Amino acid sequence: MRISLILFAVVALFMAGCSTVIQVPPQPVDVDNPEPRTIMLSEAASDLGWTYEAGPGAYDYTLRSPYGDKVIFRIGTDYMSINGARYQQERDAVEKRGSDLLLPESTFNFVCEHFGRHELVRSPRHEAKVEYELVPIDRPDTPKATRETMATSTVLKGLTICIDAGHGGSDPGGMGNGVSEKVIVLPVALKLQALCEAASAKVIMTRTDDTYPDLDKRCEIANSNKVDLFVSIHANISPADSSVTGFEVFFNKNSEQGGLFAGALAAAMDDATTSPNRGAKKDPRGLRVLEKTTMTAALVELGFLSNAREAKTLTQKDYQEKMAKALYEGIVTHWTKNRASVSK
Ligand SMILES: [Zn+2]
Repeated sequence: MRISLILFAVVALFMAGCSTVIQVPPQPVDVDNPEPRTIMLSEAASDLGWTYEAGPGAYDYTLRSPYGDKVIFRIGTDYMSINGARYQQERDAVEKRGSDLLLPESTFNFVCEHFGRHELVRSPRHEAKVEYELVPIDRPDTPKATRETMATSTVLKGLTICIDAGHGGSDPGGMGNGVSEKVIVLPVALKLQALCEAASAKVIMTRTDDTYPDLDKRCEIANSNKVDLFVSIHANISPADSSVTGFEVFFNKNSEQGGLFAGALAAAMDDATTSPNRGAKKDPRGLRVLEKTTMTAALVELGFLSNAREAKTLTQKDYQEKMAKALYEGIVTHWTKNRASVSK
């Protein structure tokens, strides 16, 4: 009797503390998906009692309320538009097999709160709302490639590599602590270019300044140049938890070589920094640059801009060079071991 009273009190206290989220069923965790804090657009529409459709643009999807509200997502970008005003999402919207989109759960929560549908917000509630505000972006001082004019080694001779600095131009990528992704990934990519060229590799860049080639263009650049390796450089955002830090490397789950390449990059970054190693991971999101490229490919997330300390570190030239050097070492390791079998 006494025990059941105590239990009752504990349950009552717990329920009082969670009253805003208690009706929300826990999200099923997909074992193939290490990041369950996502939601399909179809599911979001169904929860809201709204509809969705493809368009207006080729990469757009529109969520519509019965009252004429429109929320537009674009595949491969972290922007969404709510009735014409733009907001930034935690991460990119991703097309997931067919005509459904994978969205960050935080995006769904934001839309619910925006339209006063607080009862639909899923647990855990995200606090860092400031991350979603689209702030004006300062023009970054785009560093020019510090290209060595003469090769100083031949360790990468015979390799053609495509280096993709994520985002750029009108797409700042993730933003946290006043730092935007496009600004910190470019100098790392340019330094990596210089290192690879100095080692006699042929390097193809998807961008060398503050411009935005779209995701299909990036894949086309890599595919048409018949490169052996493709590396895309990004940084992460975790609005739900600003304490998260570390680097990680994604690869196409159907690519054995991609897994080896991602593993070599993660191992080299692990050697070079004290930042937590979140590992080489199968891409759970169908990232376009990993799906549409035809060669061994990896997508590197250098660290978390949502963590104040890591954001500051990522802006430091020394650290950017350290990361570029680590990626270079990973490329050398992979190329030296696997040059005979570079393929997707
Ligand atoms: Zn990115």
